[in-house]
Amino acid sequence: MEARYRELTPGSARAFSEARRWLPGGSSRQAGYWHPYPLTFVRGEACYLWDLDGRRYIDLLGNYTALVHGHAYPPIVAAARARVDTGSCWAGNNEEQVRLARLLVKRVDSVAQVRFTNSGTEAANLALMIARRWTGRDKVLMARGGYHGSLMEFETGFGGATGPLTGIAQYGDLGAFQKVLSEEGNSIAAVFIEPVMGAGGVIPGDAPFVEGVRQAAHSAGALFVLDEVLTLRLAPGGRQAQLGVRPDLTLFGKMIGGGFPVGAVGGDQGLLELFNPDQPRIFHTGTFNANPVTMAAGIASVEALTADRIDQMDALAEKLKAGLRQAAIKAGLALSINHIGSIMNLFFSESSGTAYGQRDDGELMARFHLAALNHGLFLAPRGLIALSTVMTESIIDEVIERATDALLDIASTGPRAD
Ligand code: PMP
Repeated sequence: MEARYRELTPGSARAFSEARRWLPGGSSRQAGYWHPYPLTFVRGEACYLWDLDGRRYIDLLGNYTALVHGHAYPPIVAAARARVDTGSCWAGNNEEQVRLARLLVKRVDSVAQVRFTNSGTEAANLALMIARRWTGRDKVLMARGGYHGSLMEFETGFGGATGPLTGIAQYGDLGAFQKVLSEEGNSIAAVFIEPVMGAGGVIPGDAPFVEGVRQAAHSAGALFVLDEVLTLRLAPGGRQAQLGVRPDLTLFGKMIGGGFPVGAVGGDQGLLELFNPDQPRIFHTGTFNANPVTMAAGIASVEALTADRIDQMDALAEKLKAGLRQAAIKAGLALSINHIGSIMNLFFSESSGTAYGQRDDGELMARFHLAALNHGLFLAPRGLIALSTVMTESIIDEVIERATDALLDIASTGPRAD
């Protein structure tokens, strides 16, 4: 697999050795790296990416779910271009941030106001600042292996550990959350969970769990923060609308920026009022917060994600899942798939584990990732797939065909053939 990958992508190999001279490990992003070297892409259009060697890939990842309409989606390009042409940023207000905030408020029931940042990580930081100021407490409780960005408190829990400011409990186990909250609740400022564990392997939480955690957080006097950075694409009102849960704060990111850097915290006015610049109780500023280009692109992205288009993506995901299962049977490989809506995670085992932590199919997954690249398919090294609205039935047919070839490759070469 690796030999073939190297043979097909010499341009990316050269580009990566140059990158290693100037960037630590040749990269700025853990999730954009894989062994032996990541591809350098030079162009994206619709659901396709092209690398330095001119090879075309069907993009099944969309920058980890952010590109819900694929690359260079014409309405987004037009909106961003119009904004760039007449000035891209300034320190004052812009109309676009008001429009995007209104759009999010209209869609997501629990949200009355929105504060914008440049990433989901920053949004999580902001929510933590709100919770700490609101409660006068320091600690955060999250799911083991949950992901809320690269802030130290959350990285600790993502790595599966508790820390001085981080408590963890098993995702899906309401009793475990209740236990920590009843024992240590008076030091916990907020409970953060994802309604579907994304980085953890696309593990959906059900309504009794998510609502139960919300109630347990409230009983302990902590805020309940729902991280919808990845899940807003699942329904116009986000996963919280499907579950019927009303968080105190919601984290947004990824697709609300239309492919530009973004994050946001939404909630009711009482909590968000802490930022009121007339009487700030939390000091928060940022040169590029609510950047007009991002906001313009974000409006186009959110507006184009209608309920109908979500249904179409979800139907394509069902088709893809069925096709991949058939292909795995043909190749004689155990494959299980965690799936919800337009996102899924592959596991090369009889039953799916979690992508972070206890995963024992790492070697096979890595080999499939390279085999898929060799056959012109791009997915996350850990097996995450996120479809986009610009995909069609015939593209999914092509994906299944290519994935079948990739699966047959790994089945025929055996575990350590490289
Ligand atoms: N929360 C969740 C659920 C995420 O999936 C991510 C990004 N993968 C983040 C937060 C962090 O967002 P960003 O990468 O924009 O900092």
